[in-house]
Amino acid sequence: MPEPLPRIKKLSPYEPGLSIAEIQERHGLARVIKLASNENPLGASPLAMEAISKAAASAFRYPQGGNPRLTRALAKIHNVSPQRIAIGNGSDEIIDCLIRIFVQAGQHNILCFDPCFSIYPIQATINGNQIKRLPLKSDFSFDFEAFLNLADENTRLVFLTTPDNPSGYCPPLEDVAAFAQSLAAKAPDALLVIDEAYMDFAPEGFSLLNVGKYPENVIFLRTFSKSYGLAGARLGYAILPENLTEFFWRTRLPFSVSILAEEAGLAALADAAFREATLKTVAEGRKYLTLELTRLGCEVAPSSANFIMFRPPEGKMEAAALHAALLARGIIIRQLKSYGLPDYLRASVGNREENRVFIKELEKLLKGKA
Ligand SMILES: *Cc1c(COP(=O)(O)O)cnc(C)c1O
Repeated sequence: MPEPLPRIKKLSPYEPGLSIAEIQERHGLARVIKLASNENPLGASPLAMEAISKAAASAFRYPQGGNPRLTRALAKIHNVSPQRIAIGNGSDEIIDCLIRIFVQAGQHNILCFDPCFSIYPIQATINGNQIKRLPLKSDFSFDFEAFLNLADENTRLVFLTTPDNPSGYCPPLEDVAAFAQSLAAKAPDALLVIDEAYMDFAPEGFSLLNVGKYPENVIFLRTFSKSYGLAGARLGYAILPENLTEFFWRTRLPFSVSILAEEAGLAALADAAFREATLKTVAEGRKYLTLELTRLGCEVAPSSANFIMFRPPEGKMEAAALHAALLARGIIIRQLKSYGLPDYLRASVGNREENRVFIKELEKLLKGKA
């Protein structure tokens, strides 16, 4: 038997949010509320579900190469040339492809913040790449000056998440624009990858992509997993400089986006009513959770995303104990130990009933009445 490579043997795996089935079984519960993976509180778009059923009859066929219909639809929505669109099996696959396309092991490096979305460092490690990390400021904002200082002539990819996961922080547009400019000047061989998985939930005017004015060295990542409610279908996309797109298509596995996912994505893009309802539900739920968590004495990080990071009040239950006690009551939220934030928890914004039950159970636990 061969030995796995040393870097694979010491890799810490990605920790997904716990599943509903797991918790139902473990605690013998009939109802479990999952607020752990920032999924859509309204489920999947009805139009997308219908499209998946219709596409079932074509499941025996291979997808068309290059996802041309979805590419055209996305190009139209973002008002860019179809040659700038890359589509993948979730944005996770695109992140992995970018690393494989641009970063030479033993020579180049990748920058990201600490903590950050764990797929960046995990895929970098799998590919044998060096990763340089800058701690977030104590208020979870970004020190762009120090980040720029980390970049050198061997930097190839710089990951920035706006709004950020797990804090929900979204930096001002001017700061992101200035950073992109300075990076292009200091490290002309580096690409700035702005992961906008949660941008739909942020106020208008925070996305360089939406504003449409940005330097050439920028790649944007978007996903169907959050605002479009298709996390299980696996669909994400990038908008990248036109001359780089062909290398993406050469690198990506030819059929990684299934026929079902492509049809679901096309239908979800057309479902304006579902999208509007999603954004409204998240905005209301986020406001409610922020107020209620604050009322219960939690320290709440201001969020521009569909989740809230908070720190339970001191002198009561610690984050880990609170997380476990909520699980036993059928409420799954996210522990942030794997992000290096053991004192914090992250809850996705659910629907009105889910949010209410979560707060009710949390209140009982914090008041010692559980
Ligand atoms: C959820 C999330 C994504 C989306 O990943 P998919 O592979 O598209 O499901 C990307 N980036 C961040 C920071 C996320 O939290």
